[in-house]
Amino acid sequence: MKIAFIGLGNMGGPMAHNLLKAGHELSAFDLSADACRHWASEGLPIATSAAEAVRDAETVISMLPASQHVEALYLGNGAPGLLTQIAPGALVIDSSTIAAATSRKLAAAAAQAQIGCLDAPVSGGTGGAIAGTLTFMVGGTAWDLERARPLLERMGQNIFHAGEAGAGQTAKICNNMLLGILMIGTSEALALGVANGLDAKVLSEIMRRSSGGNWALEKYNPMPGVMEATPASRAYAGGFGTDLMLKDLGLAQDNAAAVRAATPLGGLARSLYAAHSLAGNGALDFSSVIRMFSR
Ligand code: NAD
Repeated sequence: MKIAFIGLGNMGGPMAHNLLKAGHELSAFDLSADACRHWASEGLPIATSAAEAVRDAETVISMLPASQHVEALYLGNGAPGLLTQIAPGALVIDSSTIAAATSRKLAAAAAQAQIGCLDAPVSGGTGGAIAGTLTFMVGGTAWDLERARPLLERMGQNIFHAGEAGAGQTAKICNNMLLGILMIGTSEALALGVANGLDAKVLSEIMRRSSGGNWALEKYNPMPGVMEATPASRAYAGGFGTDLMLKDLGLAQDNAAAVRAATPLGGLARSLYAAHSLAGNGALDFSSVIRMFSR
């Protein structure tokens, strides 16, 4: 199957690479020359533009930062968007975390052009992207999901059909609101223990096996030196940027306002990541939020 893959960042690069390793014919593109150079050196065929990448593609996968990037790419920004270049009958799978309203707008425009469309945001971090163990939360028709499934299974382990167009995004922001909150809670608890002279590794293991156990303690400890291969142990480089978490918490707050839901901890978490970003940490992995609480 010929696949176009647009967006070769921390997540998209390894996801595209897993499809290549599975034997698919790929054509990839990113606006960043550095990203293109890096993934070309790993064997990914790189196109000169997004339009060239989607030529003859049966499936187009995108992994971009935010709503405005997805909207500009597919629907255009004054000029015609990529949907005009994609063949009728093809399938678009957008795995970026964006507003559910933008995903619904994209799905409606794709339907007009007789192109299938799924929102399929992911969870599992860069480790999951590299290992091919991501969780996909999919919005769209069951028919399009079945067309996408063989590809999603090469990049992920768990594939959930959340509902119609936009539902994958709604599931994703609920999950990430919880993740943002639990990373702050885990950071506070670790910093408190360390301020009392406890060893961070010992305390992490106690809490991991006790009622405070959670994903951060299992896979993504925010304290440097506790776990190998986490962003914390490489000065918070790579991983999931603070500014991306801030974006997701903003999406959750916008959504909560629209449906009049009470999300007080989500709101507080958004403010704390905003302050952390303003202090110059926006590009660091979001687990660096522990620096707000550490001495
Ligand atoms: P990233 O910033 O590392 O990568 C995004 C890439 O998109 C960049 O390389 C950028 O150059 C490229 N890009 C932007 N506009 C483009 C365009 N028009 N055409 C081609 N390329 C374009 O971000 P990431 O960490 O890979 O995250 C991507 C998405 O996945 C975000 O929506 C994020 O919220 C979500 N996400 C990230 C993680 C994580 O752990 N990093 C986990 C789950 C979900």
